[in-house]
Amino acid sequence: MSNRNIAIIGAGPGGLAAGMLLAGQGYDVTIYEKQTYIGGRTSRLQLGDYLFDRGPTFLMYPSLLEELFQSVGRSLYDYVKLVTLDPLYRLQFGELQFSPSANPEHTEALIEQHFPGNGAGFQRFMAEEGKKFDRVSPLLQRPFGKLSDYMSRELFAALPRLNAIDSVYDRLSRYFDDERLKFAFTFQAKYLGMSPWECPGTFTILSYLEHKFGLHHPIGGVNRICEAMHQVIREYGGRVMLSTGVKQVLVRGGRAVGVLLENGEKVAADHVIVNADYGTAMHGLFDERDLSRHKPVKVARKKYSCSTYMLYLGVNRAVDLPHHNVLFAEDYRANVRDIMQTKVLSKDASIYIHNPGISDPTLAPAGKSALYALMPVPNLTGSVDWQEQAEAVREQMISRMEQLPELAGIRQDIEVERTITPLDWQVDHDVYRGATFNLAHTLDQMMLLRPHNRFEDVGNCWLVGGGTHPGSGLPTIFESARISTRLLMEQDRSRRMSRLITTRSLLRGEKI
Ligand SMILES: Cc1cc2nc3c(=O)[nH]c(=O)nc-3n(C[C@H](O)[C@H](O)[C@H](O)COP(=O)(O)OP(=O)(O)OC[C@H]3O[C@@H](n4cnc5c(N)ncnc54)[C@H](O)[C@@H]3O)c2cc1C
Repeated sequence: MSNRNIAIIGAGPGGLAAGMLLAGQGYDVTIYEKQTYIGGRTSRLQLGDYLFDRGPTFLMYPSLLEELFQSVGRSLYDYVKLVTLDPLYRLQFGELQFSPSANPEHTEALIEQHFPGNGAGFQRFMAEEGKKFDRVSPLLQRPFGKLSDYMSRELFAALPRLNAIDSVYDRLSRYFDDERLKFAFTFQAKYLGMSPWECPGTFTILSYLEHKFGLHHPIGGVNRICEAMHQVIREYGGRVMLSTGVKQVLVRGGRAVGVLLENGEKVAADHVIVNADYGTAMHGLFDERDLSRHKPVKVARKKYSCSTYMLYLGVNRAVDLPHHNVLFAEDYRANVRDIMQTKVLSKDASIYIHNPGISDPTLAPAGKSALYALMPVPNLTGSVDWQEQAEAVREQMISRMEQLPELAGIRQDIEVERTITPLDWQVDHDVYRGATFNLAHTLDQMMLLRPHNRFEDVGNCWLVGGGTHPGSGLPTIFESARISTRLLMEQDRSRRMSRLITTRSLLRGEKI
């Protein structure tokens, strides 16, 4: 049992998961959160009587999170009620609606119905991508802190199956001949804020995971998962200090020794864990003289994900739409090019609509709906003037939504409303360049080339969350917490051992 003292900067899912794992091992954990609420991008947004998830709405692979809970003697399922969604989502291409099922056999039949001759491709997709997932997942669970980490049996076994040189789109072209079907299995690159034509083929595992293990909705919203981790932290004596921003990580002799809070207070800590957005943290949380590899000028040159324009609508009517809906642009490829390359707003854009009320009655008063719509848009490295464009984008989204028969005339039923633009993500939520999915997952920013879990520039300092290895979706963020806390505990154990050996030798009068 250790009561070493941990300061965590940020109560996003990464910081909470790290806090839970360490509190469960006897560490004295304090999480400092500058907002008035926990969860970061995975927080709850309340507008009047309506409850929304601010960011993540897709929960995949909950068994991984359950492993984290189990490792501290708890079960996720005692804290959160999960429902499995069927269909997974409704995808709309022009007039065609395709709603893959949680049951792969049903999905195969639907594929044959809408895209004749492609059913066998789905079978091959599940078989081949399943083998890839088995080889790739150990890599997501281990750190990449030094070159020798590449010299493992796991990596050699996985290499031929990583498909890292192909793009996600190339991979899917091997299974399907219909563009729409390829998009149905590649749009998941957007979960990483990337283009299917640029995202390394390794990430086809995202659509595989959905089809293999399903999509899940926690009653109350995905933010409930953050509440659950917070609860476990409290049970182990840890704490989250809300409205308590950290101004700087205090460093002495190259090691983190505590944090300076925005209120001027200095707090000593044996370890500091940074969950704040990577780009923002490197620009503000350290004295630049303490940084070498992560100096702001270098961080600014890295590649970042796209951003999102968000619309949260509390509407005075029940909406009969599936839980997840994606409306694809007529020319999806051009839309993705606008977002990722030319960095302009598309006239014809893709939109995601979340209608959780269809599976969860707790989010809006009876007979009403909490709708969330998201448009992927360029991050702030583009030249869109968000103060000028915000209203036009809102209008574009509502008009597009109203084309669905289920949402016809919806603007008349809006009772409460909130928007978040890329600029708001940066200014109000400390998301560097409004890149909502953090650093891009390009080959030159993955594994060893991603900021390391053990922060390279400052000792006793660790990174968790979307800006470190393995990446920026919830399952990988939970893995980042597991990897970073494992490294931290190993370091503490080995330092304890060497202190013990030194003390014994001294007691025996030996020379050290
Ligand atoms: C719109 C949207 C939709 C998404 N959808 C999905 C999805 O469906 N599925 C999925 O798996 N992932 C999704 N993601 C991606 C990702 O899972 C979430 O963004 C996730 O919340 C990121 O977690 P994190 O731990 O990296 O950091 P964050 O959630 O950003 O948390 C960081 C925390 O640090 C705090 N902080 C920052 N600076 C300081 C400071 N100086 N002092 C104290 N506190 C500070 C912040 O206030 C924040 O609470 C989505 C993201 C967005 C934005």
